[in-house]
Amino acid sequence: MEKRNELYAGKAKSIFATDDPDLLIMHFRDDTSAFDGQRVEQLARKGMVNNKFNAFIMGKLREAGVPVHFERLLSDDESLVKRLDMIPVECVVRNVAAGGLCRRLGIEEGRDLNPPTFELFLKNDALHDPMINESLADSLGYATIEQLATAKRLTFQVNDVLRQLFLDAGILLVDYKLEFGVHKGELLLGDEFSPDGCRLWDANTREKLDKDRFRQGLGGVIEAYEEVGRRIGVDFG
Ligand code: 5GP
Repeated sequence: MEKRNELYAGKAKSIFATDDPDLLIMHFRDDTSAFDGQRVEQLARKGMVNNKFNAFIMGKLREAGVPVHFERLLSDDESLVKRLDMIPVECVVRNVAAGGLCRRLGIEEGRDLNPPTFELFLKNDALHDPMINESLADSLGYATIEQLATAKRLTFQVNDVLRQLFLDAGILLVDYKLEFGVHKGELLLGDEFSPDGCRLWDANTREKLDKDRFRQGLGGVIEAYEEVGRRIGVDFG
C-alpha cells in the first residue's frame, strides 16, 4: 500500500490517497478542536489513542453486521479506509440528555431519553452545524430519503451494539454522532467513532470521560480516553 498526496485536512484528521483508487489513508493527528474549530490544541498521544479506539469500535460494529468504511490499522496513527462520497449530514442518537439538547430545550442534563432520540445536523462550521430534517436533506440534495432511512436504521443499530459494550465496562453511552458515505452504491459508516464524537460517563459517578473534558476545560482529556479504552479492551500497545 503506497501512501500518496493529501486530499483533505479536517480539524483532527487528514486524508491521503493511495495507489488504490478505492482506498484512502486516514491520519489521526494530535489536534483537538472545539466550538466549530474556534479552539484548537495539540494533545500528546491523541492521534494514536483515537486511531486505536476507532479501530476497536469499527471492528466490533463490523462483527455485528454494520457496514463500515474501516479496513485495517496501518500504524499507530493511521488507518486504511474505503473511499466514500460523504453525505454532509451528522446523525446523532441520544440516550441521556446533555449538551446541545439541554441548551436548545432547557431540560436538565442527565435526564434519560426513552426511547433514544434521533437528530440530523448539517455539517457546516460557519453555520454551527444547524439542525435539519429528512425533508430538507432530501430537497436540498444532501441525501436521498432511502439513504437517510438506512443511515437512521444503522445509527440505531450502532446504539444497540455500543450501549451494551460500554455498559459492560461500567460506562454510559450518553450520545454520539455518526457520518455516512457511499462506496460503489452502498451506504457505509464513515469518519470515526472515538471519545471526540460521543459522550461517555462513568455509570456510577457520572464523571465525564469524553471530549466535554476539553470543551469544559476539565483537564485529563487523553487520560480519560485511555481509561475508557482500557476498560472496553482497546490495546494501546
Ligand atoms: P450536541 O448536539 O449535544 O452538541 O452533540 C451531540 C453528540 O454528537 C455529542 O456526543 C457530540 O460530541 C457529537 N457531535 C455533534 N457534532 C459534532 C461535531 O461536529 N464533531 C464531533 N466530533 N462531534 C460532534
